[in-house]
Amino acid sequence: MVKILDTTLRDGEQTPGVSLTVEQKVMIADALDALGVDIIEAGTAVTSKGDFEAIKEISSRNLNAEICSFARIVKSDIDAAADAGADSIFMVAPSSDIHIRAKFPGKSYDYVVEKSVEAIEYAKERGLIVEFGAEDASRADLDFVIKLFDAAVSAKADRLTFADTVGVMTPERVEEVIKKLKERFSVPLAIHCHDDFGLATANTVFAVKAGADEFHATINGIGERAGNAALEEVVMAIEFLYGIKTKVKKEKIYDTSQLVERLTRVTVPPNKPIVGENAFAHESGIHTSAILKDSKTYEPISPETIGRKRVLVLGKHAGKASVEAIMKELGYKATPEQMKEILDRIKELGDRGKRVTDADVRTIVETVLQIQREKKVKLEDLAIFSGMKSMPMASVKLKINGEEKIEAAIGLGPVDAAINAIRKAIKDFADVKLVSYHVDAITGGTDALVDVVVQLKRGNKTVTARGARTDIVMASVEAFVEGLNMLL
Ligand code: MN
Repeated sequence: MVKILDTTLRDGEQTPGVSLTVEQKVMIADALDALGVDIIEAGTAVTSKGDFEAIKEISSRNLNAEICSFARIVKSDIDAAADAGADSIFMVAPSSDIHIRAKFPGKSYDYVVEKSVEAIEYAKERGLIVEFGAEDASRADLDFVIKLFDAAVSAKADRLTFADTVGVMTPERVEEVIKKLKERFSVPLAIHCHDDFGLATANTVFAVKAGADEFHATINGIGERAGNAALEEVVMAIEFLYGIKTKVKKEKIYDTSQLVERLTRVTVPPNKPIVGENAFAHESGIHTSAILKDSKTYEPISPETIGRKRVLVLGKHAGKASVEAIMKELGYKATPEQMKEILDRIKELGDRGKRVTDADVRTIVETVLQIQREKKVKLEDLAIFSGMKSMPMASVKLKINGEEKIEAAIGLGPVDAAINAIRKAIKDFADVKLVSYHVDAITGGTDALVDVVVQLKRGNKTVTARGARTDIVMASVEAFVEGLNMLL
């Protein structure tokens, strides 16, 4: 069983452009604890009042995970971590020439050793578990790293970390170094990798394979520059490809990834392993028909393993099998001629470069089969008031199950106001959550057609709907109302 130090809230928060509030950090910490990580590095207590408060609040929540603060070999950093109530510190000392010269100009290697020992002894006095890391160890002289670790262990450091701070390790070298360190040290050994050459996951996996007791990672691989090793990738790779276990509850991986994406606003690329939008999506006809017969044909693991669902994207490669699967779900049957017509229309949409959603297929199927679906929610009227100093305001008139409802609401922007008004109007009918909202302009120019895709959720049913108009508010409202009709 290998341990995980999750640093989403520290190295992850150091991602350019990311800043989390105390509340957001607490939400993520709760999710990480539920996910089953062993150590949560919640921030750097000394950096800001916000980080101090976040560590304090997270430490007070009685989570299963050990709560850790980042620290330098400086007394004030250790004091801040201890005062915030952290269980441990991840304390780093520079170990490479470049780092020592930049951080302690004119000082010797021995000075770094001396300062590290003093800091570890002080942190132990303050009752902290000390994970001691050699920063930039991958570019340092390994003999010096060993000397530093020897001193750290003598000073009663509880764990050691080899940090590939700028991501220059290779799997072969990681394996060699970790084996060497494991032979020498009996305290737990951790690895900390960055993804500058796209090798963070591979390097971390090799470290674990070579005997590392713990690895550092972040959700979605966020972190400074190109990011850190992605927790979900390392966990799935070591478990499924190497048979090495962690405490992570894998079925919670996707939800945790989505939460971190939402709160940090760092978008997960669609092709990202495990958590990317396309990681379990199938489009081409041959693939989808095989998948429907046996999902193992094109899926190394089932999406349910990490708490998500397979997506069959119907596009210009739409095969009969995938359309039939959707029709079966809707309870419709088509004649061979009708089926051909449905497929032709889907292909036509795909050829125009459109993403074909559930709603499109439903509309196409119903148009071809001439099924007149009674719309439960109809938009009768919409008015927006928007200005420079006042909050945008929207009023809507909806017909829900034949009953007229008029509501008004304010919002951060006109779209937000309109959606808030609709939400108010439907609140007695259903509890619907907006999961995601995506806007694309089809062509350039202010008169461009805007394509809005929304994902709505009610209970455990999620639907995707679209609205396309030149008016962004109308497109958004149309998509939202269309989605409501699919859910109700
Ligand atoms: Mn780092």
